Amino acid sequence: MNFLETRIQTDGVVKAGNVLKVDSFLNHQIDISLIREMAYEWQRRFNGKKITKILTIEASGIALASIVAGIYNVPLLFAKKSKTINLDGELYHAEVESFTHKTTSNIVVSKKFLTSDDYVLIIDDFLANGCALKGLISLCDQAGAIVSGIGIAIEKGFQDGGKLIRDLGYQLESLAIIEAMDDKTGKITFRKN
Ligand code: 5GP
Repeated sequence: MNFLETRIQTDGVVKAGNVLKVDSFLNHQIDISLIREMAYEWQRRFNGKKITKILTIEASGIALASIVAGIYNVPLLFAKKSKTINLDGELYHAEVESFTHKTTSNIVVSKKFLTSDDYVLIIDDFLANGCALKGLISLCDQAGAIVSGIGIAIEKGFQDGGKLIRDLGYQLESLAIIEAMDDKTGKITFRKN
């Protein structure tokens, strides 16, 4: 097991509905040294890739992505969840269905901050069905920005998102891939590399 898998095994809590809670180190209280180790691991895996911007989605991706942006010394841009419709044309927007909240939200970034000059590393905490990633990729496509890679902390490999994104041809690097989890026993099984 790698360092993140070990931490998930120790502190992750499996909830009903295929939800993993990692509130003690990633989603509520945040272990910065763990995140730093994750960021260095992504830097190793994306070695040689041109990266001018880190992109994530609010709220839970921001802490993670900010440490990555610090290591690459590039800006962090986070897509905002917006209730209002873009009327002035200054925003790129995409629709994202939330896996955890079962709601649909409009995510937006300002056209000022994402352009065709950008090479983007997308970072997020979880990958389930891939809706959040599809939305973030759409924002990059609208801007004409290149997606250099995608870094995910925890991929739930028994859901469709990972296959969907890899089939689109992106370099997707998930630091822990869960093959199965059981809310009755709490057992978590990771995919072997
Ligand atoms: P997707 O869009 O891939 O279906 O779901 C990814 C998003 O939903 C992530 O940004 C994450 O915030 C949330 N998410 C999905 N599954 C889980 C989970 O098991 N636990 C937690 N804490 N968040 C999740």
